[in-house]
Amino acid sequence: MPHDFRRTKIIFTLGPATDSEAMLEKLIAAGADIVRLNMAHASHDWTRTVVRRIRAVSGRFGREVAVMMDIKGPEIRTGDLAAPIELQPGEIFDFTVKPGADRENAEEVRSVDVNYQDLVNDIKVGDTVLVDNGLIRLEVLAKDHAHIRCRVLIPGQLSSRRHINLPGVTVNLPSFTAKDRADSLVGLEEGIDFLALSFVRTAADISLLRDFLAEQKSKVRIIAKIEDQSAITHLDDIVRACDGLMVARGDLGIECPLEELPVIQRRAVRSCLAQGRPVIVATHMLESMITQPVPTRAEITDVANAVYELADCVMLSGETTVGKYPLECVQTLDRIARRIETEEDTDPREPAVFTGERMKVLHSAVVLANQVPGSKILTFTRHGFMAHGLAALRPVHSPILAFTPHAQLLRQLRLLRAVEPHLMPFASEPDITIENAIIHLKQIGRVQTGDKLVVATDILSQDRLVDSVQLRTVR
Ligand code: PGA
Ligand code: MN
Repeated sequence: MPHDFRRTKIIFTLGPATDSEAMLEKLIAAGADIVRLNMAHASHDWTRTVVRRIRAVSGRFGREVAVMMDIKGPEIRTGDLAAPIELQPGEIFDFTVKPGADRENAEEVRSVDVNYQDLVNDIKVGDTVLVDNGLIRLEVLAKDHAHIRCRVLIPGQLSSRRHINLPGVTVNLPSFTAKDRADSLVGLEEGIDFLALSFVRTAADISLLRDFLAEQKSKVRIIAKIEDQSAITHLDDIVRACDGLMVARGDLGIECPLEELPVIQRRAVRSCLAQGRPVIVATHMLESMITQPVPTRAEITDVANAVYELADCVMLSGETTVGKYPLECVQTLDRIARRIETEEDTDPREPAVFTGERMKVLHSAVVLANQVPGSKILTFTRHGFMAHGLAALRPVHSPILAFTPHAQLLRQLRLLRAVEPHLMPFASEPDITIENAIIHLKQIGRVQTGDKLVVATDILSQDRLVDSVQLRTVR
């Protein structure tokens, strides 16, 4: 029988197909946990409007979802074209970093501008240039201070402002750009919960963003998107530095040889499990559902594999921004996740390597919960430490009912596998807080008389707060 509560969380990207009140309400009701705003395509006005709309709809519905702002980071794009160019196989073609500079054979060789001047220094002869999600492939033949001359290997239609990928090339663009900063400030003003940084290359990129957030006195959490080879080289350090990782398979699948993608996904998920960081598997999970009401069999299995791998979240992009069946996509993820979660034959649970006595207490709570069939874990968290620690230990069957007095923390807990957050003010006596929580859970029908609760919290003992694990039976 499927669980009463889905462990794997669902993130969907907001776009024209889903940004109305009516659609938001449907997707939140269907169990979406986090709404992602892709700032590569968002104006500031739209951003403000939709964040307020999400809050209003969640408030009415009584289910606060989190908002993740995805900033685009160091991204190279082609410039504007009056009309699309149909590239021919073998054609010689120029990328121009200094518009208007003199060009050899300018009459015969077609060209497009690129938004990044230093590209000529970062790239070398023989490198590969991929345009528009890797659909068009070119090889660098020569370069000067203003142009990169290429040969078309795989042709296609080049239209305006297409994304450029340069596999294996280290690009000297800042990781947190002026646009990212401006976007983030709008997000912070509107009270977003997560910032996802695109094309994270090293852990230092995350420190920069952390300094910025500290300056702004913000409690927003940082999601590192790994999308290129540099991120893979520095994977473990990036995992340690971030508050959550996104396996951004869209760009990864272009920047790395395609057969590496499943290997990287598995390594990234395991690194997150080992270090106690939440992890999101993203992109193309239900791609065919952009136009069809049912997924391909391969997509069903891909989603299932992410659940078997014990990822915290699965994510929808084009499926919910421009797709025809956004609600069906959320329902499909929900169905697959609930089914697979009942299987105990998952990938090995590799509990985080824990230092510190507090983590050891949480570990004993999970060991106990795993021994008590049908048990639920109950915890109380002001800063998220308890809930994060418990989720990182991946209890085998027990959901983690996490109470917090803080609304933003409640929303941020939506990221964590198996965590079901509840908002409640804490009493000054820990024992009364526990009693209040159990009364609330009984009232909403979440626990019944006779249920076993493993309570991980601090208790007052001779005027000191002491971490404790208790086994309680609901009366
Ligand atoms: P994007 O990132 O959707 O912002 O490109 C995700 C990915 O590359 O997979
Ligand atoms: Mn990407």
